[in-house]
Amino acid sequence: MSTPDERLDVIVIGGGPGGLSAALNLVRARRRTLVVDSNRPRNAATLLARGFLSRDGISPLELRKLGRDEIERYDEGEVVFAVVDEVRALEGGGFGVHARGVRGSADIDATASVILIASGLSETLPDIPSIRAYYGTQLHSCVECDGYEKSDAALALIGETDDLAERALLLSQWSSDLIVFTNGVGTVTDDEERLLAARGVSVNRRPIDDIEGERGVMTGIRLKDGSVVERIGGFVRPLWSPTLDYVDGLGLERDESGLIVVDARGRTSVPGVYAAGDSTPPGPQQLIVAAGAGAVVAAAVNRDLIGQSVAEATSVLAGPSQ
Ligand SMILES: Cc1cc2nc3c(=O)[nH]c(=O)nc-3n(C[C@H](O)[C@H](O)[C@H](O)COP(=O)(O)OP(=O)(O)OC[C@H]3O[C@@H](n4cnc5c(N)ncnc54)[C@H](O)[C@@H]3O)c2cc1C
Repeated sequence: MSTPDERLDVIVIGGGPGGLSAALNLVRARRRTLVVDSNRPRNAATLLARGFLSRDGISPLELRKLGRDEIERYDEGEVVFAVVDEVRALEGGGFGVHARGVRGSADIDATASVILIASGLSETLPDIPSIRAYYGTQLHSCVECDGYEKSDAALALIGETDDLAERALLLSQWSSDLIVFTNGVGTVTDDEERLLAARGVSVNRRPIDDIEGERGVMTGIRLKDGSVVERIGGFVRPLWSPTLDYVDGLGLERDESGLIVVDARGRTSVPGVYAAGDSTPPGPQQLIVAAGAGAVVAAAVNRDLIGQSVAEATSVLAGPSQ
């Protein structure tokens, strides 16, 4: 699509729904756009993605493939698999990006007028030996995404944070056969416990030894005291953090969680750098929300680039100031 010396309009970092939706709208605005994606979908642990209008129940990988194919139908768009390890501001404007190729792709050195960050979040699950084996199938993190399939089931909510009562209240919309497990760490105040009890939800504050199951089917939570509480699935509250080392040199404003601070159109504190999806605060962490944010940012990028070229043309017409 471009030679290494040719400046692109936009480099999108991250090929999830946020980045792909932004890229689709950018190529349709005739902006030469490169999507660089390390191809580690946040929801890779799950088999079915829920709640995306017209695609409810699609495989997460299929959703992304459809998105990539749509972008690559346009001459202006290209998607490559690589891990961006540095974005630097160039003298005179624009940005340089270096990325290490993955899955047999070559390394990339490219420049663009605009950088659009859509690299999502990393998750850290509570330190329970078998939790990964059940994550995405019987234990989930997004209540809105996976609550429906767990309706009225005997559920656990496992977490070590201080927002467990709030999440348990939300979850009680789908099942009141719910036990909150703090693993001896998470905070549920006495007032919160009373509130939860009124919804039929109980709290277990004992440390967890492991998840119990047979042939990959979860059957309960084994506590360190040896007792087992029967549960067929539930929800986990991971810790979320964006991995943004590659933009450290740009000095972007971040919030207390490390997320990139943006305005309502996805502009960051650094002109020419935009962000969308789960790497920005706050909002439901859902596929369609990230895709919507991508479309919003794309419209802002296109308008800002027009504004920039009009300003440049006007300053040329005006000539050097005396
Ligand atoms: C287990 C699980 C199940 C879920 N199920 C659902 C569901 O059913 N329905 C729903 O609506 N939501 C679901 N979600 C939430 C949903 O996955 C996210 O809200 C959504 O993926 C966010 O989109 P995004 O584009 O911001 O980021 P992501 O989808 O996370 O995409 C970010 C992309 O950036 C890439 N990347 C990261 N760093 C770099 C780098 N340095 N260089 C290049 N690329 C990079 C990653 O590899 C990834 O491909 C689920 C989440 C989890 C964890």
